[in-house]
Amino acid sequence: MSHLYIISAPSGAGKTSLVAALVREWPDVQVCISHTTRAIRPGEQDGVNYHFCSLETFVAMQGRGEFLESAEVFGNYYGTSQQSVQQMLDKGLDVVLEIDWQGAQQVRRLMPESRSIFILPPSRAALFERLTTRGQDSQDTINRRMQSARLEISHYCEYDYLLVNDDFAEALAALKAIIGAGRSEQKPMQSRLQPLLNELLED
Ligand code: 5GP
Repeated sequence: MSHLYIISAPSGAGKTSLVAALVREWPDVQVCISHTTRAIRPGEQDGVNYHFCSLETFVAMQGRGEFLESAEVFGNYYGTSQQSVQQMLDKGLDVVLEIDWQGAQQVRRLMPESRSIFILPPSRAALFERLTTRGQDSQDTINRRMQSARLEISHYCEYDYLLVNDDFAEALAALKAIIGAGRSEQKPMQSRLQPLLNELLED
């Protein structure tokens, strides 16, 4: 049985890099690619980083109830396709949603069996530095993102797991430990190991 993981973090905490490394190493974990009305950034690809769409398309999808969750973040709209999530779960994959605290609240309400992980930067200074050296956003945007980081972090207590992304390899190991533990739970393991259990328990 597969699990749904919500991963949130303030912008600049390294969430996307951590999740990308996790998915590279564990192919049966997949990220659901969100829809967004945000403009594409240099280096990004439509259908890889996001499904970039117009506001009209987004609103139409919302109207048809196609989003499991959706939210406005930094003046742009983001949403997770309900159908994509379900298709991946049905294939037996563990699914990761990289979404903000507002989306996390909606998913928890609809899918209480989902697990949520919050990634923290090692310090405020480190967060500021990461947002500055990324070089993709204006000073205004960076200042706004620092303020939004505070709001995002204030929701940490709603999450099942907290991890600090100081040393990348350690943070990745912590993420794998959380998702790996989900795979060893008794219920999903029971069906996978039924032949072995039957054999071991035979009279
Ligand atoms: P960025 O535009 O920098 O990639 O992401 C900005 C913020 O939007 C991040 O906090 C990210 O977690 C959030 N985000 C990305 N996709 C989604 C989504 O599908 N739903 C929600 N609620 N937030 C999202």
